[in-house]
Amino acid sequence: MINGKIDFRSDTVTVPTEEMRKAMFQAVVGDDVYGDDATVNELEQLTADLFGKEAALFVPTGTMSNQLALFTHVQRGEEVILPDNCHIIVHEAGASAIIAGAQLRSIPNVNGEMSFELIEHYIRKDPEDIHQPRTALITYENADSDGQVRSLAYMKKVKELAEQYALPVHIDGARIFNAAAYLNVDVKEMAQYADTISVCLSKGLCAPVGSLLVGSRKFIALARRKRKILGGGMRQVGILAAAGILALQEMPKRLQEDHDNANYLMAQLKEVKGIEVYEARQQINMVFFRLKGYPMNSAALVRYMAEHGVVINGEDNGMMRFVTHYYVSRDEIDQVVQLMKNAR
Ligand SMILES: *Cc1c(COP(=O)(O)O)cnc(C)c1O
Repeated sequence: MINGKIDFRSDTVTVPTEEMRKAMFQAVVGDDVYGDDATVNELEQLTADLFGKEAALFVPTGTMSNQLALFTHVQRGEEVILPDNCHIIVHEAGASAIIAGAQLRSIPNVNGEMSFELIEHYIRKDPEDIHQPRTALITYENADSDGQVRSLAYMKKVKELAEQYALPVHIDGARIFNAAAYLNVDVKEMAQYADTISVCLSKGLCAPVGSLLVGSRKFIALARRKRKILGGGMRQVGILAAAGILALQEMPKRLQEDHDNANYLMAQLKEVKGIEVYEARQQINMVFFRLKGYPMNSAALVRYMAEHGVVINGEDNGMMRFVTHYYVSRDEIDQVVQLMKNAR
């Protein structure tokens, strides 16, 4: 429960834990633009170490982290190869055109996965041709917004392909700890197949605010300058970083619990008449289903749930999504399933 409600909309709704609030209260802070905030410095070092990279940069949002990656990797007019349904294209309000001035080469994909053949097909082969834009970056999500995880083998092959053309790889790892839990690997193993990674603290990890961009020392120094350009140089931001440190230290190890709960929820929903569960998609903390012959349509279901203290999103492209997180218990899942069964 969060503020008296069961909230299935997203893992972004998670509020900071008691321990996080205490750490925030006690955080040693300083002016981070001068590099003086010990708590931010600790968070950045911790993140870099966790991912086996040289450096990391604290930013307010995942969108800023992705856009900073593009802004730093790509020159105006250069191309970024990415799946056509990814967050950078669909959910960042066209920022890549405004900030990096990048041309997005969006690639059709199956379940979020671009084929190697298509990636290679779309890479510009002749950087000296004055007609052609240059390819500057390949990026994809792991896990993606549909809760699908790319395998280590896939990541390795994309990295090898990128290296063949001397291109960097950026991973939008907003839910990379969920992907790591699903693959049962250390995030370091995933990070070796990327030059830069965007990591979100405020989804399943429960920090109130914040993402980190991880990469080489040289890259992060450039990104730090670009962050200032975007107005993202924050001052006594150790207040937020303090929660982020606990998010990284305490929360990844419990994410499998959210995944198990999502599995449990899916199994229960399968038993509800008029609900068609997308079983193959269930890898992390998200359950997808369609209403087919269910007594209510999506809008009515949202209202009915709200009347019973349960917050859900309506359908998107005909698809409903329930997300489990730190503040959803088995008991609450049972309550929601019972409500779903009782609907008339
Ligand atoms: C949530 C998310 C982001 C970042 O979103 P913000 O709301 O800007 O923090 C980026 N990529 C993916 C795939 C996400 O799910």
